Amino acid sequence: MSISDYALAIEDLTVSFDGFKAVDGLNLYIEKDELRVIIGPNGAGKTTVLDLICGKTKSTDGSIMFMNKEMTKLAEHEIVHAGVGRKFQTPSIYENLTVYENLEVSYPKGRSVFGSIGFKCTQEVDARIKEIAKEVFLEEFLDMESALLSHGQKQWLEIAMLLIQDPQLLMLDEPVAGMSVKEREQTAELLKGICKGRSVLVIEHDMDFVASIADKVTVLHQGKILAEGDMKTVQNNPKVIEVYLGH
Ligand code: ADP
Ligand code: MG
Repeated sequence: MSISDYALAIEDLTVSFDGFKAVDGLNLYIEKDELRVIIGPNGAGKTTVLDLICGKTKSTDGSIMFMNKEMTKLAEHEIVHAGVGRKFQTPSIYENLTVYENLEVSYPKGRSVFGSIGFKCTQEVDARIKEIAKEVFLEEFLDMESALLSHGQKQWLEIAMLLIQDPQLLMLDEPVAGMSVKEREQTAELLKGICKGRSVLVIEHDMDFVASIADKVTVLHQGKILAEGDMKTVQNNPKVIEVYLGH
């Protein structure tokens, strides 16, 4: 495969905070329709990688090609516009709005050929909201005030608010933290469904969860890749056991 075939091609990516390299010469290639999981000890640089991709942190060196377009010099909103959606660890939903209203305000503006929100467009938005709500197990909760949702349901709502914008790359930082066993299983199903037609990049600690979703796992340690491959290969890697899994 050549670089242009990947949805995301990161090369020699480095960020230095006062001389400390949180990400150090990283090369990472993610395919279209791939669900990649990044694991590694606390402080390995996982969240910083997502910050660099979405433009929240600017790199010191290296390249981030997304859909064959260089991202490192773009502003955050331009990166969102290019098709990158990112979910942070704490959900940022509008607690006082219903599930339906949260999805409605997240629907991308100006996509309709009618320009303004007309009748036909409203129907289109309504159908899309219901479709997405079903995908994230919230179809029964559309009229509920979001504040009343469980922690897991709030996480799903935020995923839905990103999905409705149809990103080509969706990044999730520890999406199942604080979720019940049942919610974790449902989230695994959800993630396996949404990587059809887009790339998904997930940071996660729960190894059972990682095993249930990952195509490929990247282990990060001190800003560098320690190991990469399928779950089994990575789990049996002595270096990975030493710095991460053994603890
Ligand atoms: P992880 O998500 O793998 O636990 P992080 O990416 O959050 O790790 O952090 C990696 C390292 O970079 C940590 O040592 C952290 O303190 C440091 N770091 C992250 N962001 C900044 C920043 N904006 N300024 C200074 N140091 C930072
Ligand atoms: Mg982190």
